[in-house]
Amino acid sequence: MGGVPVKHHSKGKVGRRRSHLAMKKTNMAACPKCKGPVMPHKTCAQCGAYRKKARTAKKA
Ligand SMILES: [Zn+2]
Repeated sequence: MGGVPVKHHSKGKVGRRRSHLAMKKTNMAACPKCKGPVMPHKTCAQCGAYRKKARTAKKA
């Protein structure tokens, strides 16, 4: 059996608690090959490309 609430929680109280529950938007990068959205550090779901563009050489 689930717990039974002892005190009534008002809509405002519940809303204040739930104000922290929203998920953050995932930051997406553009695929260098097909320009579609890709997750960082993952291969592209559409074309399977991974970091086609080579990184610039390090200085010194
Ligand atoms: Zn792609």
